[in-house]
Amino acid sequence: MDIQRIIDAITAEMTAAQHRGKAADYIPALARVDPAQFGIAVVMADGRVFTAGDARTCFSIQSISKVFALSMALGKVGADLWTRVGREPSGSAFNSVVQLEHEGGIPRNPFINAGAIVVSDVVLGGGEPRETIGDILRFLRYLADDDEVQIDQEVASSEAETGFRNIALANYMKSFGNMHNVESALKVYFHQCALSMTCLQLAMAGRYLVHDGKHPGTGRQVVTAIRARRINALMLTCGHYDGSGEFAFRVGIPGKSGVGGGIIAIVPGEASIAVWSPGLNDRGNSLLGSLALERLSEATGWSVFNPP
Ligand code: GLN
Repeated sequence: MDIQRIIDAITAEMTAAQHRGKAADYIPALARVDPAQFGIAVVMADGRVFTAGDARTCFSIQSISKVFALSMALGKVGADLWTRVGREPSGSAFNSVVQLEHEGGIPRNPFINAGAIVVSDVVLGGGEPRETIGDILRFLRYLADDDEVQIDQEVASSEAETGFRNIALANYMKSFGNMHNVESALKVYFHQCALSMTCLQLAMAGRYLVHDGKHPGTGRQVVTAIRARRINALMLTCGHYDGSGEFAFRVGIPGKSGVGGGIIAIVPGEASIAVWSPGLNDRGNSLLGSLALERLSEATGWSVFNPP
């Protein structure tokens, strides 16, 4: 299979696309990103790397960070995490507040904002935000095998300045007893959202989810094999918020989107993929990123519903 030829063709189609969606504009750093960009990186299970388009341009990974934070939280408290956050698709927007009232302050899943803020509270574990943020950054550098991964401080401050909805979610969950340290957990959450990475770095970082939880560079388990499977299951069912069903239907691969226009997608045993295009669809997921992954799964046959 000629992966390079496939992704070159996809990149040509996406670069020429007329309908590109609308980039997030709730903070200046995202509003000024050139919407004409598109990048894709594919890291194969055997280590081969393929890139096309703007695969080496940094972007704000935003909610994609929730996958890595979840992996850290599971390492920290194991299955106890599931007493504080559920595993069901929400069917509502990423920042929705309504369901919390009916379900005792327990968010539906770790990928909507409420769930991710609880996960940040768990990763923090009563510690210092500065140290936890450092731990998250080091974790991503280790996974990506790249010490250049950075946190964009401007994005982190803007997230805090405009994060009224997230602040409300955290306080609301606190009222149900499901948050320990609202302020520190939010600080962690805003910084993890501000991780700035390229498609190539992200696809490298996702490798452990291709290899049953094992970092292929060091041979060490990042998460246990069963947890890797479960994280992939959650990405498939919840990774695109109220667009998760549509993504599973069209692409059939576990994926997690971010409002910066990135998507990480995992084909267990085959490949770790990252795509990026800033324009979003009406569910807040990258419009061309989703389309590119649909094209890639068509061209390669990659799907968790298509046994090799
Ligand atoms: N920083 C964004 C927020 O919390 C992340 C949302 C997203 O990427 N979907 O609102």
